[in-house]
Amino acid sequence: ELAQRMSERAVDVVKYFMKQGQIIKPGDVIDADTAELIAAEFGHTVRRVAESDIEEGLFDVADREEDLRPRSPVVTIMGHVDHGKTSLLDAIRNANVVSSESGGITQHIGAYQIEKDGQKITFIDTPGHAAFTAMRARGAQATDIAILVVAADDSVMPQTVESINHAKAAGVPIIVAINKIDKPAADPQKVRSELLRHEVFVESMGGEVLDVEVSATKGTNLDKLLEAVLLQAELLDLKANPNRTAEGVVIEAKLDKGRGPVATVLVQTGTLLVGDILVAGSEWGRVRALVNDRGEHLDLALPATPVEILGLQGTPQAGDRFAVVNNEAKAREITEYRQRKARDKAAARHAGQRGSLEHMMSQLQSSGLKEFPLVIKADVQGSVEAIVNALAELGTDEVRARIVHAGAGGITETDVSLAETSGAAMIGFNVRANPQARQAAEQAGIDIRYYNIIYTLVDDVKAAMSGLLSPER
Ligand code: GDP
Repeated sequence: ELAQRMSERAVDVVKYFMKQGQIIKPGDVIDADTAELIAAEFGHTVRRVAESDIEEGLFDVADREEDLRPRSPVVTIMGHVDHGKTSLLDAIRNANVVSSESGGITQHIGAYQIEKDGQKITFIDTPGHAAFTAMRARGAQATDIAILVVAADDSVMPQTVESINHAKAAGVPIIVAINKIDKPAADPQKVRSELLRHEVFVESMGGEVLDVEVSATKGTNLDKLLEAVLLQAELLDLKANPNRTAEGVVIEAKLDKGRGPVATVLVQTGTLLVGDILVAGSEWGRVRALVNDRGEHLDLALPATPVEILGLQGTPQAGDRFAVVNNEAKAREITEYRQRKARDKAAARHAGQRGSLEHMMSQLQSSGLKEFPLVIKADVQGSVEAIVNALAELGTDEVRARIVHAGAGGITETDVSLAETSGAAMIGFNVRANPQARQAAEQAGIDIRYYNIIYTLVDDVKAAMSGLLSPER
């Protein structure tokens, strides 16, 4: 590796060692001082960097207030299956295609941008909270506003509740779209009152959450929904600095047969230009082309714009953050470092180092947090309620359980990512985790606790929580 970094032949480095009377094989570890000596001997200049220096300057450049300009909102549509998320995304897109001179054709790149009253709105094209949370688990938050779709003929369902909890955990404001109002069985009022039970208070119920009755298939009130989005966006006062190198998040990435690695990114700050060198997760590349959601080639992409990037060396992962760097050497250095770190982490995992309830408690303790976050899945709604009530009684002035999410059904990958992002313990009552969830938990170092007696569950949480109480003085 040292030889490679110096662009020398490994055999020459080995020979040098032999001259010093030392036998060394490729792959042997040498210490930093020796490496520095050798590098100097071969005529190279050494710069010592701490690991923390390598990523320095990435993602932490603070913008000055006067450089910030308004930017358009980024919206994700969430809700229960079959409540009309896809239909709504399609209807909004078809009704509001940004008029373009070249008359490009709609491309599904993972996000699209529409125009309403001269203002742009970006929609993430993957509906549901799974993608949303997977992204958050990777440290990226792409969404400013969540549209919660609830079918008026069906009302609040388990994934509606999950969506609410995921949006709340992310601190993303919700706009309720009461869908399918064209149906005879539609009962929008029932939706509103059921939402109350999940602490979503719409305006007509004395709250502040905007709600709009829509029909995705008939196209009813889509305008109103978009107006609500713009209104909410105005309240959020969204800004970004366009006059700097770009940063953002990968929405989607794939290996395309003809075009090579293609990633759809959302620019969150700065302006992305053709020719920029960027790092995305553990991959890097020089932007060969930028293509928008209508298949048009762009020279640049401003904040809140989704674009496809061509020219990456490899395929990053959805949710990876990206940033433009100064030069290729820097890009290589960062990605090599990240790949190495990922390998080390994987090795450590295999060595059996896993998170546990106790470990988590001690972490919470040292952070001084007096809340014990939990994600709970149980077999039936009745058990969910019983557990939540029992845990609520445990709280003291000093420490209490905070239920990030509780719901009926098996433990899924989404539950695990929610636990990961909110630093919560994951508990299963009379349910198991599916294989994907188990794998995700293992990767994240999250210990899933299984119970079949409520008493034992509560007792364990109590014991863990008492570790959180500050010692008596
Ligand atoms: P998703 O699973 O949430 O993405 O839901 P879809 O968009 O796939 O919609 C599920 C079903 O509901 C489809 O058969 C749609 O045609 C239907 N649907 C969606 N929106 C409406 C609506 O506003 N009115 C009526 N009548 N049907 C709708």
